[in-house]
Amino acid sequence: MSGLNPVAAAESQAELIIDLAALVANWRSLAARIAPAACAAVVKADAYGVGAEQASKALYDAGCRVFFVAQASEGVRVRAVVGAEPAIYVLNGLIAGAGRLDPYVAHDLRPVLGSLEDLRIWSASGLGRSIKAALHVDSGMNRLGLPHGESLTLAGQVGALGIDLVMSHFVSSEVSADPLNAQQIAGFDAVRAAFPGLQASMANSAGLFLPQRPFYDLVRPGYALYGGNPTPDAPNPMRAVVTLRAPIIQTREIGAGESVGYNAQWTARRVSRLATIGVGYADGLLRALMGTDARIGGEAVVAGVHCPFAGRVSMDLTVIDVTDVPGGVRAGDMVELLGPTITVDDMAARAGTIGYEILTNLGRRYARTYRR
Ligand SMILES: *Cc1c(COP(=O)(O)O)cnc(C)c1O
Repeated sequence: MSGLNPVAAAESQAELIIDLAALVANWRSLAARIAPAACAAVVKADAYGVGAEQASKALYDAGCRVFFVAQASEGVRVRAVVGAEPAIYVLNGLIAGAGRLDPYVAHDLRPVLGSLEDLRIWSASGLGRSIKAALHVDSGMNRLGLPHGESLTLAGQVGALGIDLVMSHFVSSEVSADPLNAQQIAGFDAVRAAFPGLQASMANSAGLFLPQRPFYDLVRPGYALYGGNPTPDAPNPMRAVVTLRAPIIQTREIGAGESVGYNAQWTARRVSRLATIGVGYADGLLRALMGTDARIGGEAVVAGVHCPFAGRVSMDLTVIDVTDVPGGVRAGDMVELLGPTITVDDMAARAGTIGYEILTNLGRRYARTYRR
């Protein structure tokens, strides 16, 4: 990415490599899976941390014509790179306040209307005559969207509001046997029947792999596009998009019984060789990845060897145990934190979280490279 100053580039800096070819391959494989339904791309939160502009442009070039963001400001960024043609829906809906509708008008963004208040604002604005919108119906999340009953009272009025899409969102689509999936689909089918003219959309990444195939007219994957596993109980069908490599800054040897890092949470059980790498929690390497005497934490891969984190993750630094790397390591060597060997889902499991949180925390200090 531009903006790297020469000093930063000369420092041995951690590097984040985003494989846009893999991103596009993931989108194409999902699109093929759900055809003839259309495949959108969810690019909220800076495209899950990988870069909204780069991801949206690559997906647009591959044929994607529908994008979802969370906030209008994100939609403005996407519009700037995809041009006038694609539909861009803003999931969080309208929030009352002066000027709130301006970006929708200036950048042709489509609000996802998720409450009677949203509908009131949209109706009063008269913008539905020139801008399309979606209707979000709540089928169980109790987060955004109109309750079923409320939504049914709107049948017949949606045309005047420019609404062309009715959508809902799964509670536990990644747990394919969860009975909630079938319940939500049945509820959504009932709502959809009340809006015969509208396109319908229900599935996120994991929803694309449900046995019920709830694809309707449009699907909304995010996580799977970025290489996350949409089927946590089966091998990951997606290609890895993110590689994170960090430089070794220093190495040292310590004796058995010596500790590493803040509050001495990790103790060497043998004479140990350690390497300090230049990445910490300020870069999104979650502190929950700390390796202590009580629990195994994160790991890095050095020359094919898995090396556990030793002690607490610091703000800018993390120590790894490289004792088992044959031939040792040197300052300047790069270690893998995410990539071909360590997946986003692996790192998340070790941090006790989900890969979504790993991706959306990817730091701003990395030297970013986009591969086509
Ligand atoms: C974030 C989001 C998605 C994408 O979900 P993934 O699990 O990342 O595929 C789809 N729909 C809605 C409403 C969302 O908020």
